[in-house]
Amino acid sequence: MTKQITTTNAAETEAIARAIGMQLKGGEVIELVSDLGGGKTTFTRGLAHGMGSHDHVASPTFMISRVYKVGRLELHHFDFYRLPEAGLIEHELEDILGDPRSVVVVEWSDVVQHVLPKDRLTIKIESAEGEARTLRLQAPESLEYLLEGVAWLY
Ligand code: ADP
Ligand code: MG
Repeated sequence: MTKQITTTNAAETEAIARAIGMQLKGGEVIELVSDLGGGKTTFTRGLAHGMGSHDHVASPTFMISRVYKVGRLELHHFDFYRLPEAGLIEHELEDILGDPRSVVVVEWSDVVQHVLPKDRLTIKIESAEGEARTLRLQAPESLEYLLEGVAWLY
């Protein structure tokens, strides 16, 4: 299933992410693709809120990953910006990918493409005029439930 949505400000992008975050059960992988400043971290902030987190979600750049504990779930937020290779983090990521209680979000996923499962939600964000962003949400059949809440919004 593919869905295309245009948002006109950051709050709208967060609202879409929140709707998706509310559907997360654990074990899902979300890949966020955009240029710098596209809204990947903004999206992740909404996702965490939707899961029930009240933590402040900041960019993990320079730290590679951050973890938010939300109830029985953990949100693992990775950002491989400008890293030529994932190194040891690749093994850490592989361990987390096998954990049904973890949700994995990856920004700049090029260096870990070979580790990511084929069944993942891919979100491509493109900047349009002004603050508009076009979000293209691609979900395999196994993850279509994630977009159920989005259908209510749009
Ligand atoms: P990335 O992680 O992709 O580099 P960030 O989420 O860190 O991007 O930054 C996106 C910036 O763009 C934020 O300052 C956010 O407030 C702003 N912004 C403006 N309009 C939008 C929109 N429609 N959706 C998401 N972010 C937006
Ligand atoms: Mg970011």
